[in-house]
Amino acid sequence: MTWEWVLIRKNCTGCAICVDVCPEEAVKLARDMAYPEPRAGKCTGCLICVKECPFAAIEVRKIHSYI
Ligand code: SF4
Ligand code: SF4
Repeated sequence: MTWEWVLIRKNCTGCAICVDVCPEEAVKLARDMAYPEPRAGKCTGCLICVKECPFAAIEVRKIHSYI
């Protein structure tokens, strides 16, 4: 199963809560970055970051593969 992690940038404050709560280290936010980014292939779709983001700035979608 593959998951797409999508930031709704207009809502994001860069608080980094999503980085802290992700159990898979699937989100990174380096000091020189204004917004978090996903690490490719790491997200397991647990949705913890979606629930914990105070600003509703994350969507996690299942990517369907028909190959
Ligand atoms: S928890 Fe939400 S608002 Fe905070 S950095 Fe992550 S996506 Fe942005
Ligand atoms: S859905 Fe779960 S695994 Fe994926 S980025 Fe959010 S907290 Fe991490």
